Amino acid sequence: MAAAPFATAVEGHRVDRRQRVDDGTSAPAACCALSTLTAYFRARPIPPLDTSKQITDNSKSCPWAVPHSNRVALVISLSDTVVASVALIDAGEQLVDLGDIGDLVLVDRTRSVVSNLSRHFLKVRVGVAERLMFAARKLSAQSLRLLVKEGYRPLSLQRTYFDRRLLKLRMQYPSASDALLIELTSRYAAPPEVAAHPTGAAVDLTLATQEGVELDMGSVLNATDEESSGACYTACQFISRQAQANRRLLATAMFAPGFVNYPSEWWHWSYGDRYWAVISDEPCAIYGPVEEECL
Ligand SMILES: [Zn+2]
Repeated sequence: MAAAPFATAVEGHRVDRRQRVDDGTSAPAACCALSTLTAYFRARPIPPLDTSKQITDNSKSCPWAVPHSNRVALVISLSDTVVASVALIDAGEQLVDLGDIGDLVLVDRTRSVVSNLSRHFLKVRVGVAERLMFAARKLSAQSLRLLVKEGYRPLSLQRTYFDRRLLKLRMQYPSASDALLIELTSRYAAPPEVAAHPTGAAVDLTLATQEGVELDMGSVLNATDEESSGACYTACQFISRQAQANRRLLATAMFAPGFVNYPSEWWHWSYGDRYWAVISDEPCAIYGPVEEECL
């Protein structure tokens, strides 16, 4: 059937769960020939970012922003089947390079701590870029800036990261079950089928001063559990008070426009992917994987 590439896309993403019949196969990358998708993306000019967009400020519900709150971050592994079972109705948004959206959000083009060689590595969905700008404006009141290290990541590279990590852990723990090894792998490398970076929904970022000097966040960005002695976990208590305070600042700014964090990586934030949908109790993911050839 010759359907329009985004025939299943919806205006907004709040759909009635009872009406949901999508099992994920309506994601553009899954339902369209690559050539069709490529033509679709290339034919559509990237719209200017809507800097006046009404974005709900969730900062009051940020666990770290509410003194003495009993709320704790919901910890669900990316390997949990609940994540893979989330429906996907792609909003069909373009990806935009964060280096082209002005000075509010800094980008690190040197690829320090990033091994992603794609020329699209600083791209994210338009809606993600707008929300980053929202967070950046909140931080600018404190003379701080967001510094993005990585956005889009090709699906093939994500698969390589996951497989490599899984193999390493399998050799390290030969008697461990497959389920446990996949769960352990997922703490640092997302399973390709639910990974947010290949969808343009995720960013790895840190805080910097107005001059671009990175703040102490308690561990090197992208350091694994072993490399950082556990300091990569967002809520890690075994880092300096200053680093904890810096993480709270980052979290408060990112929670505000609706981003969610993956608890084993303080630097990883996403909006619109399957994990986001689970944590935010949204009915479906709005961003699915985009092949690099489409960008
Ligand atoms: Zn990430």
